[in-house]
Amino acid sequence: MRLLLNFAHRQAQRIQATVPRDRKEDIEKMNEESLLNDSELGRISIHHNARAKQMTFRCKDGQLACTVPVYATGRDVALAVNRLRDRLRRLLQRGKSRSVQSVFTPQSRIEADGFVFECRQADGGKPRVQEDARGMTFLYPAELDWTMPELQQWLTRVVEECLRRRAQRMLVPRLMQLATQRGLHPRHVNIRKTKSRWGSCSTQGNIQLSLYLMTLPPHLRDFIMHHELTHLMEMNHGERFHALLNQALGGQEAAMQREMKLYHPTLTLQ
Ligand SMILES: [Zn+2]
Repeated sequence: MRLLLNFAHRQAQRIQATVPRDRKEDIEKMNEESLLNDSELGRISIHHNARAKQMTFRCKDGQLACTVPVYATGRDVALAVNRLRDRLRRLLQRGKSRSVQSVFTPQSRIEADGFVFECRQADGGKPRVQEDARGMTFLYPAELDWTMPELQQWLTRVVEECLRRRAQRMLVPRLMQLATQRGLHPRHVNIRKTKSRWGSCSTQGNIQLSLYLMTLPPHLRDFIMHHELTHLMEMNHGERFHALLNQALGGQEAAMQREMKLYHPTLTLQ
């Protein structure tokens, strides 16, 4: 069997392989979706697609998924899996590390100033969230299957949206207050779902804050905001930058920087 590998770059999100087109006898047996169980890679879902011209492997919700042309058989997939095993293993690992960032359980809890999240069992009804001044409560029926990826994704989304609304209400005015105290004028402030950093400041004076700042204690939110505001005076992280920042923080920069190591811009559940 001839294999054609299309790797755009090392961190490819999908792997493709061609399928020989001599399997007419199997076409009638095709279902729209089937499953392959691999002892090492786990369940691989197979999706037949009329427009597909080759096999494409992706990692979806921590599992491998393969889209194949209508004329491909389970055997074609099994052969491709064996040939591509090393690469598929890496694809799966990368996919899993992306998808397992937050897993909600009945004990999950976030306790931050202005945002408390907790789970509580409720009688009857569908799983639902209740928002109040303190934060958000997830009300769930006793028989809920917590392993459903759809549930985990939905919960992540509603919690992040709640954090975004609160960040808009609490962080933006706080940033403007700190700016005024220091006689600084950011051009624009916006809240983003950034997981790579807590905040940023552009040369045009636009400040972006990650909505995950809401999960930090207030003095560390201020620390990040002062950091970005200081960039309005000094773009780089040189000596002058740190002198200005340390002054704004009352000499606490190093201590706060150390404290920041305990936190990451993600949904950290207790
Ligand atoms: Zn910076």
